[in-house]
Amino acid sequence: MSGVSKAALDELSRFARTRGQARRAAAMLATAGQQQQQQAKRWKSSTSGNRASEDGNTKTKVSRVTSSYFSTSSSSTTRTRSGRRRVVVKYEEEEDVTAAEEAQQEASTQQGAPQTGKQVRVTSTRTTTSTASVVDSVMEDVEAEEDEEAEKERLRRAPPNWETVYNNIKTMRSKRDAPVDTMGCEVLADPSADGPTQRFHILVALMLSSQTKDELTSKAVRTLQQQLPGGLTPHTVTAAETRVLEECIYGVGFWRRKAQYLKGASTMILASFGGDIPQTIPDLIKLPGVGMKMATITMAVANKQVSGIGVDTHVHRIANRLRWVRNTKTPEHTRVELERWMPRRLWGEVNLLLVGFGQTICQPRQPKCHECLNKDLCPSSTAKTRRRGQQQQQQQQQQREGKRAAKVGTRTAEAGRASRRKAKEEQEEEKVVVVEDNNSYDAVSTVARVKKEEEVDVTADGGQEPTSSSPPPQPQPSPPHPRSRSSRRRTRTTRAQRETERSS
Ligand code: SF4
Repeated sequence: MSGVSKAALDELSRFARTRGQARRAAAMLATAGQQQQQQAKRWKSSTSGNRASEDGNTKTKVSRVTSSYFSTSSSSTTRTRSGRRRVVVKYEEEEDVTAAEEAQQEASTQQGAPQTGKQVRVTSTRTTTSTASVVDSVMEDVEAEEDEEAEKERLRRAPPNWETVYNNIKTMRSKRDAPVDTMGCEVLADPSADGPTQRFHILVALMLSSQTKDELTSKAVRTLQQQLPGGLTPHTVTAAETRVLEECIYGVGFWRRKAQYLKGASTMILASFGGDIPQTIPDLIKLPGVGMKMATITMAVANKQVSGIGVDTHVHRIANRLRWVRNTKTPEHTRVELERWMPRRLWGEVNLLLVGFGQTICQPRQPKCHECLNKDLCPSSTAKTRRRGQQQQQQQQQQREGKRAAKVGTRTAEAGRASRRKAKEEQEEEKVVVVEDNNSYDAVSTVARVKKEEEVDVTADGGQEPTSSSPPPQPQPSPPHPRSRSSRRRTRTTRAQRETERSS
């Protein structure tokens, strides 16, 4: 292989890493083919089929194309777990094609040799267009296969009910009444300006929109369009003083810093990109103040190329509320997670759809879940939570009432037990007293009998009758019945008396 063509093919491999650069790679191969006109080569692929890397994180699919010019060429598509892909085209030199073979090839081409399956017959080794078309065809085949597989893989990872939820959001957004619909970057470009200038307007609107409401962004872009002499172009922004830019965009978030970014980006666009905005994401993110999200949206809106999902704070929040992603912490992480399962055909529209939805219904604070068509499907629905809360409240109320009733029952039972215990104690006490009283009754009755006998003796002995002034004799209490309560009380009294007597 000549040094020139090898260098070109190395360059080809380097550039053929993404879908967008495949065509460019094909053009480079054509250039290499031009330089090799006198050295027709045969190429063959060294590998074909699917293979997985040792770590299991990468899968490579190799497609093989056979032609009379390129014996075989291989296009390998590498897919990693993160969803990133890398397309690498490899060619291997086998042997020189002789002049006779070349003539044969040309003859067969002129006869219009049929192409079957993935076999591609090169019309001429000396025409660059045919060489480019071979590579183009290879790449298209690879891309088509890859897209098909990727779509199937994505659908396997998709969350349940996502399509219903997505269609509900589309229905809710059908009125297009969100601020982003009337003041978003799509509508801020001056329709009377030329293409590059309109693209620049979109880029400026996106640069000013971060951390800023659409109303303020719209006002700032309109002011720039009207105030800068000559309108809003990279030239006028570069020529304007930073102070003037600051005055024009005053009110948007970080207006001082954004004025500097505008000036820096305009200067770079003029110096490095010929006055038009960059056409690829790697070039776009070189501009000061332009990040991945902005570059993705710029590619979709200004350059009409969908290269990913533009995830801002609204998309990030809603994707997490709907559990479309697994609790991601940053918008960039959300973008990667969403791109793992969301079909490519939706990547271009999902940003506008969810931003408007986030502005009108699924707002950051107090989302209007009661108005949302997804209130019964959304895991974060406050409507559902409220209903659940009411049910919980009812259950708690019932539990409280049950507990209260049980407590009352317990108290009643306790009271019953206490009264029974008391009664039992009293009965036991009573028994004891009765036993004691049986003894004491004899003693008391004996004392009373002795006293009575003494009185009788005194009267019989002629003793003085009790005078009228002297107190009449107190009747002795009749001994109580041993089993009555009053008898117990009296017994206690009697016992006390007996103690007193004993001590005296
Ligand atoms: S139910 Fe509520 S949280 Fe869920 S998507 Fe709708 S508005 Fe957002």
